[in-house]
Amino acid sequence: NTFAEIDLGEALNQNIKRCKYVKPTPVQRYAIPISRAGRDLMACAQTGSGKTAAFCFPIISGIMREQCVQRPRVARIHDEAKKFSYQTGVKVVVAYGGASINQQLRELERGVDILVATPGRLVDLLERDRVSLQMVKYLALDEADRMLDMGFEPQIRKIVEQMDMPPRGVRQTLLFSATFPKEIQRLASDFLSNYVFLAV
Ligand code: AMP
Repeated sequence: NTFAEIDLGEALNQNIKRCKYVKPTPVQRYAIPISRAGRDLMACAQTGSGKTAAFCFPIISGIMREQCVQRPRVARIHDEAKKFSYQTGVKVVVAYGGASINQQLRELERGVDILVATPGRLVDLLERDRVSLQMVKYLALDEADRMLDMGFEPQIRKIVEQMDMPPRGVRQTLLFSATFPKEIQRLASDFLSNYVFLAV
């Protein structure tokens, strides 16, 4: 019967406390856990019932969770790519959600060979017309199954669509995934051409 029990994440709980919301209202008590569980929801609730928070909190919490999963992964790829690009003249830039997009844009403007990015932030950059992917020569999609589980298929498709627009060069695509279910097989057949299948 408290917000802490709903487990929205530490930072959001602090903000809720700061705003002096002590107890969830009825619509919040029932709607937030349903929404956190990933279910669609139709709720009848009046203005004044606390419905705004009932849909804002689970969305904020969901985005926080995504960033928690993605950011460390992207940071590790960035570290590895940077370490092994040392003194090679290959320039690596990282872009992920939750961090300042302006800082990332400034870095991109200085030129980049390898961009390590989360799908959401990369789509954001594309929509601002600040990156062009048409001449991308190598595409690595890491943890593809996790990205699909997290609902990033539309973003991934949008990114690859951009790469496929003319004048597209020859692209090599490397798809890594811990599992190979139907959805990943479909991505593979859509994005890869004449690919080698490796299972280790
Ligand atoms: P709404 O139904 O979203 O229009 O919210 C009605 C008002 O209730 C808003 O001014 C909110 O700031 C406030 N409110 C929403 N949830 C809570 C809560 N759990 N505790 C105290 N106030 C709240």
